[in-house]
Amino acid sequence: MELKPFEKKVWLATPTMHGEELRYVTEAYEQNWMSTVGENINELERQAASYVDCAYAVALSCGTASLHLAVKLAGEKLYGIPKPNEGALQGRKVFCSDVTFAATVNPAVYEGAEIVFIDTERETWNMDPAALEQAFALYPEVKVVILVHLYGTPAKIDEIKAICDKHGALIIEDAAESFGATYKGRQTGTFGDYSAISFNGNKIITGSSGGMFLTDSKEDAEKVRKWSTQSREAAAWYQHEEVGYNYRMSNVIAGVVRGQMPYLDEHIAQKKAIYERYKEGFKDLPVQMNPYIEGEMEPNFWLSCMLIDEAAMCRQVRGEQDALYISEPGKTCPTEILEKLAQYNAEGRPIWKPMHMQPIYRMNPFVTAQGSGRAKTNAYIEGGCEDVGMDIFNRGLCLPSDNKMTPEEQDVIIALIRSCFE
Ligand SMILES: *Cc1c(COP(=O)(O)O)cnc(C)c1O
Repeated sequence: MELKPFEKKVWLATPTMHGEELRYVTEAYEQNWMSTVGENINELERQAASYVDCAYAVALSCGTASLHLAVKLAGEKLYGIPKPNEGALQGRKVFCSDVTFAATVNPAVYEGAEIVFIDTERETWNMDPAALEQAFALYPEVKVVILVHLYGTPAKIDEIKAICDKHGALIIEDAAESFGATYKGRQTGTFGDYSAISFNGNKIITGSSGGMFLTDSKEDAEKVRKWSTQSREAAAWYQHEEVGYNYRMSNVIAGVVRGQMPYLDEHIAQKKAIYERYKEGFKDLPVQMNPYIEGEMEPNFWLSCMLIDEAAMCRQVRGEQDALYISEPGKTCPTEILEKLAQYNAEGRPIWKPMHMQPIYRMNPFVTAQGSGRAKTNAYIEGGCEDVGMDIFNRGLCLPSDNKMTPEEQDVIIALIRSCFE
């Protein structure tokens, strides 16, 4: 195969539009519902709730806003209404997935929480139930667990739920990346005491932005709806008894998402085909794909990722901003592969850097399956890494996973990656 740079860039994950979005956006325009009320919002909420099979969906401006109000609900349920100028989780510890996008974590910080990061397991790349057990042993007072389904692969929900039930802790489920994924036949976004999804531009379906709060509780849905529109009381004038937010979804954005909803299953099928094609293309390489537990869960395959076997890793070091590696025959590393992809006009990305290694969260507690993990972080230098999240970050990468990538383009990507192992 002749390898030359792509004329048109192959992306990690971009919006895939179908035309129906315009119809609903135009309707909103023509009927002048250019606001945060309108038929698109009502219909989208109905469709999303029906798709995941929950009672209520509240359309918000983004996934982060949905998570923020989820955290606030959890805090008020557990600890009551906070004092003015304090968050609902002020001074409380909460447990949170470690390998994730910062938007999983930040909303708890908005509400004053101190985050304890929980290490990752190797079967789904999500929160490790064994590490969560260790965390409850260290911090038995904790009552909130924030759980992500990374890259569209469900976490080990039953195990995590059992541990949380045992300790009387609430689960906030971040299903931003996993809309449409199922665990034992049930949709992600329905397992949390409070759950959120996202319609950001790079997600499985999009409104350019947008998110949703999902729940079976009428009371919670009403509370979130009220908070999201500046907490107005039922009076003729602007009357306020509590702090509010401008978090409601626009009816224009809702039109875009509404036009995307019929294509969610098609997008998932395309993403799965991409994942399977990579798997087949790499089957004789010293790598594995981002794993899931077959028969138990069906991911939405939002991003395809790979993990290089330790024996096939060349030397690579990463600072705070840059990375260096030493090329070796028969070996490679994420940095080399990402550079190669970039040279050929294709976009990959490192694995989401673990939150406990981010400068902003570097001083926060971090718990692994062996217990408190901070002292063990440097063990990787000796090759015996017990910090699973950092190990996946060091050896893994996200592959171009755009559902408009053609099989021919993907074959070139596969050939490029294979060449790095020569
Ligand atoms: C995208 C994302 C969010 C935030 O969603 P926005 O709509 O961008 O605010 C939260 N958590 C995870 C894991 C995400 O990937």
